[in-house]
Amino acid sequence: MIYHPEKYRIEDKRMTPFIDPDEILQILRNTKADRSRVRDVISASLDKKRLSLEETAVLINTKDPDLVEEIKEGARTLKEKVYGERIVLFAPLYVGDLCTNNCQYCGFRASNKEMQRITLSAKELEKETRALVDQGHKRLILVYGEHPRYSPEFIASTVETVYGLKHGNGEIRRVNINAAPFDIQGFRVIKDSGIGTFQIFQETYHQPTYKQVHPSGVKRNYDWRLTALDRAQEAGIDDVGIGALFGLYDWRFEVMGLVRHVNHFEAVYNVGPHTISFPRLQNAHSLNIPKDHMVSDEEFTRLVSILRLAVPYTGMILTAREPAHIRDEILRFGVSQIDGGTNLELGGYSEGLQETQDLSREQFQINDSRSLADIMDELIRAEYIPSFCTACYRLGRTGEHFMEFSVPGFIKRYCSPNALLTMAEYLEDYAGEDTKKAGYELIEKKVNELSGSVPVDKLREKLRLISQGKRDLYF
Ligand code: SAM
Ligand code: SF4
Repeated sequence: MIYHPEKYRIEDKRMTPFIDPDEILQILRNTKADRSRVRDVISASLDKKRLSLEETAVLINTKDPDLVEEIKEGARTLKEKVYGERIVLFAPLYVGDLCTNNCQYCGFRASNKEMQRITLSAKELEKETRALVDQGHKRLILVYGEHPRYSPEFIASTVETVYGLKHGNGEIRRVNINAAPFDIQGFRVIKDSGIGTFQIFQETYHQPTYKQVHPSGVKRNYDWRLTALDRAQEAGIDDVGIGALFGLYDWRFEVMGLVRHVNHFEAVYNVGPHTISFPRLQNAHSLNIPKDHMVSDEEFTRLVSILRLAVPYTGMILTAREPAHIRDEILRFGVSQIDGGTNLELGGYSEGLQETQDLSREQFQINDSRSLADIMDELIRAEYIPSFCTACYRLGRTGEHFMEFSVPGFIKRYCSPNALLTMAEYLEDYAGEDTKKAGYELIEKKVNELSGSVPVDKLREKLRLISQGKRDLYF
């Protein structure tokens, strides 16, 4: 099936592009970052206010190292105050790497003739899903290249395959998607298969750079991609994820683009995106791209802190592209979801973890190859609460990050107890003895802390049922 980007720009005025580069550049140029202004902006965010573009620019333009520290401290405080210690875990599952685009940063680009092109059959997909369920996963993101073979119907069928697999005590309870933009009808077909979030990253909000790094293919059309998640919304997918690939253009411009994208959703649909992703460009097979805009570790921490403060009620995803020490560090600044036990190789989960990556079979290099078991153990010992919760999505409570943020007591009543219940399931079914012991000690501590906020007796009862073999209990 071939899509016609032009059609929608003409027919539907709501799909008009909303990024004005001159506006962004002017705000960045004209906004001063004096001490009192920086502090006002941080405290506005701590009062749970989403920041304007101008306020975001104040944080971006802050150079004084002491004030930068205050921005990071602000992000840490916001994370602790609002979201607490929960970290949601998921895994990416690559379904197919056929691609008609030529994104200069990606190993799957059509011109890369050395890439092994693989599309998983339904049987292979089941096998991969089984291997992920065996690790303890409950939430997946399915990833696809952009190719006529990966039609909405194909994607829907892969979602059904994943949901259809029951294995031991486990199953996948939430399937998110990262795939090419579709038209409204296409998004409807995918929505009907029961997906959670549909993610599409703009890669860069800067039009000239966008043209440069997308020399051919449908993806060359900036506006078609920019308005993709509007079409998803029109099709009823109200859980959407945006992102920028950091390293293609100036990170300051991209942060402003992301915040503008959030404003757009709030203005038009009354709800912001569910998640923001901020991948940093990684090495990929025969990658040949200028490195002028690479983001240093220090800048990365800063930009994550700024995003946390700018869009305080949006989930933030940090993937295994980053090395373990950076992930451990950045978790404190407001990240809400990470992947674990990640393997990007098509068919790689069922083959077991490789010592080294084969980049001719993968989209890009990852830098955190820890297994889910190791990550769970480390999170538990650092007193984070790892969560596989999918309750809101399955009860139709969409916009959960917004509710977490804005409904007083929501986290204590729902998210924290549900995180503990899914953690207990993991401890029962997949954890080693040491992790299990440390995990149950943490659960006991957290249950005690929750007393007064939730009916602790009901929570204890559910935990008891889980230890006796019941599964999938939630509030
Ligand atoms: N083909 C779909 C698309 O382009 O929207 C699916 C997404 S692609 C398989 C997933 C994301 O990986 C891209 O949106 C891009 O941001 C990111 N990506 C691509 N190459 C990368 C690289 N070399 N380093 C880090 N992230 C990369
Ligand atoms: Fe294809 Fe997506 Fe890679 Fe671009 S980023 S080459 S569209 S898989």
